[in-house]
Amino acid sequence: MKIVFHEDFKRTDYATDGASVSGRMECIMEALVEEGGYDVVSPEQASSGDLSLAHSRTHIASIAKDTKLFEMASLSAGGAILTSEIAFKKEPAFACIRPPGHHASRNSSWGYCAFCNMGIALLKLREKGLIKSAFVLDFDAHTGDGTIDVLSEWKDVKVLNPMAGNNKEYLREIENYIHDIQYVDIVGVSAGFDSYKEDMGKKLTTFDFYLIGRLMKKFTKRMGHERRFAMLEGGYYLPDLGKNVLAFCQGFE
Ligand SMILES: [Zn+2]
Repeated sequence: MKIVFHEDFKRTDYATDGASVSGRMECIMEALVEEGGYDVVSPEQASSGDLSLAHSRTHIASIAKDTKLFEMASLSAGGAILTSEIAFKKEPAFACIRPPGHHASRNSSWGYCAFCNMGIALLKLREKGLIKSAFVLDFDAHTGDGTIDVLSEWKDVKVLNPMAGNNKEYLREIENYIHDIQYVDIVGVSAGFDSYKEDMGKKLTTFDFYLIGRLMKKFTKRMGHERRFAMLEGGYYLPDLGKNVLAFCQGFE
């Protein structure tokens, strides 16, 4: 299991929103490195060609007007790409990145997002001829409308945003959905920890994040390739954010 992270993600001057607050990256990395003992690798910024896989020229230009945001969002997308490349080589990986990406569509973005990190990572693997199909689980409290939009024309990608009202049904919804999938080339998880019971989603427990990670591990084992990766989306309740991300990674590894 590898953690993809860059010290620049600690910077808070690229935006003024819930995802850019001070201490958010620190509490996650402290849990993953000091308690989890995971190795960390650093990404590079995504290229303009990478961004163009998912976004229109006008959207990229609109983000580029803000140099600090553009650099951070390009690094975040680069982190997603590196995470998916590690996973393709059959080592699970988690990207501790910001800004998040699942509200970034082809031509616009909102909700603290700039570029569609998940979409860019998957489209790049496809462009290289490495994958033809994928499954995306998005367990953020909010529907990943950007990821759905960016991947909408790719027929062999399935995206699940579970909608169940309580944690038991939520887990069952995931289980039932993947039960019906025979095979995909890779599994990507948009890990939004704002679905936590103390965060805005008010639903999942720390142990539920572990169980979701383990479900994805078992799913990729069943398909015989173990290609799985995950990336940070939301998650704003800082007192428990580190232990929730760690719990997910321990199930996922
Ligand atoms: Zn969210």
